[in-house]
Amino acid sequence: MSDILTCQKCQTKNRVTTTPDGQVPVCARCGAPLPWLHDGTDATFGADTRSSVPVIVDFWAPWCGPCRIMGPILEEIARDMPGKVRIVKVNVDENPRSPAQFGVQGIPTLVMFKDGEPVDQIVGVVQKPMLVERIRHLQNLA
Ligand SMILES: [Zn+2]
Repeated sequence: MSDILTCQKCQTKNRVTTTPDGQVPVCARCGAPLPWLHDGTDATFGADTRSSVPVIVDFWAPWCGPCRIMGPILEEIARDMPGKVRIVKVNVDENPRSPAQFGVQGIPTLVMFKDGEPVDQIVGVVQKPMLVERIRHLQNLA
């Protein structure tokens, strides 16, 4: 499955299918790193969460009010931190296996991955500054 990622620098829409391990997606036109937003699935979860940059998985569902608050915050963070973080949105109605695997009891739940390993979890709505702080912390981990 491919994602359409819009370059913040030149506004070009890039179709990104796979990104090699250790790399981040860049704009085909200007080379700037792209805001990395991805719709994850149970089938691709392992690959979705393996990256050289911290990965934030947003377990959500369309009927969940608080999830509608978190969604735009995560999209903003993707745009604010291109090349620094990957945001993976997982619809728990369509993908029940991944949330079960991480013991997700309610949504929204954010699970943060570093080098493919879950290292942090946030349950419920979290304000943007606190979330940015947690991501920065992950980036500083060796
Ligand atoms: Zn560009």
